[in-house]
Amino acid sequence: MIPTRGYAATDPTTPLGPFDFERRDPRPHDVVIDILHCGVCHSDIHQARDEWGESIFPMVPGHEIVGTVASVGADVSRWGVGQTVGVGVFVDSCRKCEPCLAGEEQYCVEGMTVTYNGLERDGQTPAYGGYSERIVVDENYVLSIPDGIPLDGAAPLLCAGITTYSPIRHFGGDQAREAAVLGLGGLGHMGVKFLKAMGAGVTVLSHSPGKKEDALRLGADDFEATADDDVFDKNAGRFDFILDTVSATHDYNAYLRLLRRDGTMVIVGLPDASTLEPGALINKRRRLAGSVIGGIREIQEMLDFCAEHGIASDIEAIRIQDINEAYERTMRSDVRYRFVIDMASLRQGGG
Ligand code: NAP
Ligand code: ZN
Repeated sequence: MIPTRGYAATDPTTPLGPFDFERRDPRPHDVVIDILHCGVCHSDIHQARDEWGESIFPMVPGHEIVGTVASVGADVSRWGVGQTVGVGVFVDSCRKCEPCLAGEEQYCVEGMTVTYNGLERDGQTPAYGGYSERIVVDENYVLSIPDGIPLDGAAPLLCAGITTYSPIRHFGGDQAREAAVLGLGGLGHMGVKFLKAMGAGVTVLSHSPGKKEDALRLGADDFEATADDDVFDKNAGRFDFILDTVSATHDYNAYLRLLRRDGTMVIVGLPDASTLEPGALINKRRRLAGSVIGGIREIQEMLDFCAEHGIASDIEAIRIQDINEAYERTMRSDVRYRFVIDMASLRQGGG
């Protein structure tokens, strides 16, 4: 076993702190990765605070991982020592069900093996995530980080990037004349960049009026402050496509009414449940859909798209010792637009 230091939540209310644990010795198909950067996803906060229920403690969060291959198992041929690689939200799956065979491992019938807050495929060993020195992952669930993307700005692509890229492609957001992104956070700012690069017209719908300048700088054509009284009347029936990334409970019906006939709203944010009014859908034959991350093949496609189009996440680098403050700022929508942990701070700083 490989002794490894990380940062963990021990229960839903105590701040995260240093935590020592062991990684498995590499099996023939495993890759050992020294972690350089790990993004801070709002899903880390939901889970560390047990907002989705059934959290497993102690929990080492983190599923936006970029690092360097430190060693490989005897049968690994695709990866070599020193290569820059990524790991996202899952580290294994059954590999034989219809979704897995279709390259959509995130919809594995047995359930994807999540990077943290789950059990490994033996059904016993807790999986620990990227707020740590290193991770050991099967070679088939490792991504190649293309040259040209800054490594810290690449980390959030492994979750925020693919979570927005995949539904934009799948539900035709890339063809939209008028697309909207709801919520300008980690996911939302990637959605704006992708829609823009794919040629869609993009509007940001935000409850933070101060983000207007950033939205336009990130590539949006328009910005609507959802706190304005007349915003829902003014924009009724306007959009072909809405990507809803909001992390807090909100009224889906109000946003559905901003869709034109046959428009689609895709939910990727995961707040508590809220009510759906049938009329918001049926009046203009609107569609409401959902989507979770993306499969390995599509993550690689997204990373290559980012390299080709000069896209990375806008990040604020933090030390692991500042993770609890980063959570608080994320809760206040005060993040521009992803916190990324510089893992050197863990190696140097101890606690
Ligand atoms: P984030 O960086 O915190 O961004 C969320 C944004 O939602 C905020 O920046 C804010 O944007 C908006 N918002 C927050 N509170 C709000 C409120 N009370 N009312 C209205 N708007 C509010 O979070 P993230 O990392 O992008 O994640 C967003 C959500 O997606 C989370 O629930 C996360 O768990 C989920 N997620 C889902 C998947 C998936 O596969 N489906 C993957 C990753 C994450 P404005 O300031 O612009 O309003
Ligand atoms: Zn995530």
